[in-house]
Amino acid sequence: EVTAKLIDGKKTAGDLRNELKEQIAKIRESVSSFKPGLAIVQVGDRDDSNVYVRNKIKSAEEIGMKAEHFKLPKSTNQAQLLAQIDKINRDSEFHGMIVQLPLESDNKIDVDTITNAVSPLKDVDGLNEQNAGKLARGEIKRCFIPCTPRGCLELIKRAGVDVDGKNAVVIGRSKIVGAPMSDLLLWNHATVTTCHSHTHDLPGVASKADILIVAAGKPLMVKKDWVKPGAVVIDCGIGFVEDSTRKSGRRMVGDVDFPEVKTVASHITPVPGGVGPMTVAMLLQNTFDSAKRVLERHQNVQWNIR
Ligand code: NAP
Repeated sequence: EVTAKLIDGKKTAGDLRNELKEQIAKIRESVSSFKPGLAIVQVGDRDDSNVYVRNKIKSAEEIGMKAEHFKLPKSTNQAQLLAQIDKINRDSEFHGMIVQLPLESDNKIDVDTITNAVSPLKDVDGLNEQNAGKLARGEIKRCFIPCTPRGCLELIKRAGVDVDGKNAVVIGRSKIVGAPMSDLLLWNHATVTTCHSHTHDLPGVASKADILIVAAGKPLMVKKDWVKPGAVVIDCGIGFVEDSTRKSGRRMVGDVDFPEVKTVASHITPVPGGVGPMTVAMLLQNTFDSAKRVLERHQNVQWNIR
């Protein structure tokens, strides 16, 4: 029995934020007006969304970005939301825009219409068709990569694992995690299998993976015998199980049964403290990349930093 190396997402996300902060300061030494700007649009007042938005704004401001929260009431309809998005699309102070999901509206709003209304040049969540299409076709340098998959790949790379030629298995095919994760691994030259609710013999397929990425939203689903000895296991899941020892009566867990899987994997992410913190860090990275791209276009120079 082995004990897997822990992939510390909290620390890596902190390192990344520090790197971004330094890079912003460095550019500002010669271009004092440089300030990456992120707009966050929220409809409604969900408690979980409020926490996520606050966290994103705080992290952005800490590294020297402008971050603005556009909080619209539940009574907002689709046309009003589209008008707000369009305004931000045309505002050159914002290099990135996200629409916090799920929307909480009294009216029927089509989510795909909304995510596609965000300018492809500001789509730092990577959720619109243009960015998803480019990623699917392997144009990975010319699109925004959704934050959670980008965070997972960064964790794998920083753990010193090369994905080139490896068997990667992704459990889940959502637009926000599973599907772009498969694309990203494919174009980083892994051999990729994407699993979903119709997959036959999921444990058997999973156990072929050198790199196993789980984004199914099924707490503690992946057991020890699903994992090949020495595999790298990345757990995107955020779920809860009852736990009477906690004041809240529940405990946060991922889609992987961590205590047993860590005895076979070579590397594993914990929940919390794994993929979660990386998602916000990558949102900042995407916004920084976008602002830098605008600057380079205006100045016709290349900033030779990441
Ligand atoms: P989702 O939209 O519900 O998608 C789940 C995917 O998993 C679907 O493709 C579904 O298959 C597949 N699936 C569900 N049950 C399965 C099963 N028993 N066997 C095989 N496949 C199964 O969820 P999501 O938005 O991708 O999120 C996935 C998890 O990641 C959730 O726990 C979520 O909270 C978490 N998450 C975390 C972050 C972060 O920042 N860390 C960000 C986003 C999401 P079908 O397509 O066939 O239905």
